[in-house]
Amino acid sequence: MENFDVIIVGGGIAGASLGAEIAAERRTLIVEAEDQCGYHATGRSAAFYLESYGGAEVAKITLASRELLMDPPEDFADEGFLRVRGDLHLTTDELPLLPADVDARIVERAELERMIPGIRPQWRRALFEPGCADIEVARLHAAFLAQFRRRGGAIATRARLRSASRTGGAWQVLLDDGSSLSSSVLVDAAGAWADSVAAAAGVETLGITPKRRTMVQLRVGRRGLRQLPLVDAADGTFYFKGEGDNTIWLSPHDEIDTDPCDAAPEEMDVALAIDRFQQVVDWPVERVERSWAGLRSFAPDRLPVYGFDADAPGFFWCAGQGGFGIQTSAAAAKLAASLLLGAYPHPSVAHIDPSVFSPARFSS
Ligand SMILES: Cc1cc2nc3c(=O)[nH]c(=O)nc-3n(C[C@H](O)[C@H](O)[C@H](O)COP(=O)(O)OP(=O)(O)OC[C@H]3O[C@@H](n4cnc5c(N)ncnc54)[C@H](O)[C@@H]3O)c2cc1C
Repeated sequence: MENFDVIIVGGGIAGASLGAEIAAERRTLIVEAEDQCGYHATGRSAAFYLESYGGAEVAKITLASRELLMDPPEDFADEGFLRVRGDLHLTTDELPLLPADVDARIVERAELERMIPGIRPQWRRALFEPGCADIEVARLHAAFLAQFRRRGGAIATRARLRSASRTGGAWQVLLDDGSSLSSSVLVDAAGAWADSVAAAAGVETLGITPKRRTMVQLRVGRRGLRQLPLVDAADGTFYFKGEGDNTIWLSPHDEIDTDPCDAAPEEMDVALAIDRFQQVVDWPVERVERSWAGLRSFAPDRLPVYGFDADAPGFFWCAGQGGFGIQTSAAAAKLAASLLLGAYPHPSVAHIDPSVFSPARFSS
């Protein structure tokens, strides 16, 4: 039986980024059920960085991630992962309230018409968040995995954890192919399967719920869209961004409770997205080029969960990253690594109170 200090279950952005932070200090293995890491939520995101997203506590982790995403150290990547485009939170009525640390300004109708040509009359004003950016997700995920490997980490794909048990101060992990591994620490970075993995290890679940979100790539009769800001509704009913010169990525902002699975879009949600989009701008819809869906997983209070389980020794949660797991990955991994290693936090996250994200908040 192969023995490790740490086994991380899940090779998405959560497992990869945390792995990259700890691999130099602990003999670490990532076990990933699929053929390739990043097949589930990480490979299906809308790929944006939006500082206000997820509320004030999440904003702290997002803001702390910005430096690495914008200007990474040379040994991590040759160039940054962000392309700034700004975001307009549109409203027909009240402006949204954003976390205090997030830079934003009001845009009135005349300016809105210049920023989004063809915008329909009912959208009276917006809040503009200039820091919003596209993230190169695949390159970022690959950079975390590469750093993990460089620092001595190992990755096993097609390696689904079937069960785990704790004996003699170590986890005995059984994989679907019948092989066994052991480790002192077991990290649950299994995304939509976070609760299933806990249950398979005999650990009490936290109520982490996967919710399906639909994305649609539309070709429209308008050009120059890549230069426009991301556009979302302040009431949370849609968002879209120019992906190519005359294509957009659009979502109806759906959030449908789903068992963990290989999520696929429903026709109804694609139709709803297009209907909502047509109420925002007068750009003719030419065709649906593709659509996809992914699972965003939330703890009951919609904050992520980082830390050792209060009752299961050696079981570490890195889960519940909701719709912000990419944009928070850099700082979240540093925060989680300090908790896992029992080390002082990196200066970039030293101001963040980790108890807010502790699984102990759910213990009665
Ligand atoms: C449509 C959509 C849009 C989004 N847009 C954004 C965005 O714009 N910006 C942003 O920051 N975030 C966004 N997100 C959220 C982001 O994608 C997630 O928060 C993030 O990818 C979660 O990463 P993860 O590693 O926890 O999960 P995943 O990427 O799902 O990885 C978990 C991995 O665990 C593996 N696994 C599960 N069970 C087992 C097992 N028993 N054994 C071994 N392996 C197992 C799975 O195969 C999977 O690969 C979006 C998500 C969706 C779905």
